[in-house]
Amino acid sequence: MALIDVYTNQVEQTWCPGCGHYSVLRALKIALARLEIQNHDSAIVSGIGCSGRIGGYTKAYGFHGIHGRSLPIAQGIKLANRKLTVIAAGGDGDGFAIGTGHAMHAIKRNIDITYLLMNNQVYGLTKGHTSPLSELNFVTKSTPLGQVEDPLKPSLLALSAGGSFIAQGFSGEQEKLIELIMKGILHKGFSLINIFSPCVTFNPGKSYAWFRENLVSLDESRNTSDRGDAFKACLETDGLFTGLLYENNAPDYQSRISGENKTALINLDIKNTRLLDGLIEEFM
Ligand code: SF4
Ligand code: MG
Repeated sequence: MALIDVYTNQVEQTWCPGCGHYSVLRALKIALARLEIQNHDSAIVSGIGCSGRIGGYTKAYGFHGIHGRSLPIAQGIKLANRKLTVIAAGGDGDGFAIGTGHAMHAIKRNIDITYLLMNNQVYGLTKGHTSPLSELNFVTKSTPLGQVEDPLKPSLLALSAGGSFIAQGFSGEQEKLIELIMKGILHKGFSLINIFSPCVTFNPGKSYAWFRENLVSLDESRNTSDRGDAFKACLETDGLFTGLLYENNAPDYQSRISGENKTALINLDIKNTRLLDGLIEEFM
């Protein structure tokens, strides 16, 4: 069986036909397969929203968390078992509205996980109202006269928060997206990949054609460890770019903890039920 098939389960996929999230799911599975990561060595954690289904559509360990909380859960999993490849995924409403505080601290903390921001600039699951990433003048049921606020720019925020790997992809560019996800997984630290993933049902103005016309591909020969240049690229493109924006090799959170973490769950002797009982009692 090809490794990508190992990640495929029988759960019916109910995203709308043409939804960008199908491409993210496929790219993630191919990236994991190309890196020869087995599904029992990976965990996929999602939040709430259409994007939140990605974990259910993937045969791997996982956790479907509550709204905006995929990152605290994913970080906890990685701290408990640093051998796992941990992927967190969530939409723009999930990660940059209710989850913004968690996103900023996760970026700053630099735990070695990969965060796929499935960004369609709208709340899809709750039927099409504006998110903090929606564009100015966007007319929705919640903004019948048009959105009057400017959108947040996730990559600019991540740069400001000290992000160690920041990239942007597009559902309409599969091969490039696969490569970015692979790089993100291989990066030792927190990786943010902001993926423009069209919601064909509730944000038809931001269609595949619109993104093809408006996204700028970053020059691959840029010095991606130059933070100033990353800010400049972000501002010059108004955040509408694809490619690797910035990467550094700052030590990740776990490298800063000296020695082996003896209290991490993976290091506990789980046959010793007295130890486990004590641990549970502590939280009762
Ligand atoms: Fe995708 Fe939008 Fe349909 Fe949700 S509502 S499944 S985001 S196209
Ligand atoms: Mg959304």
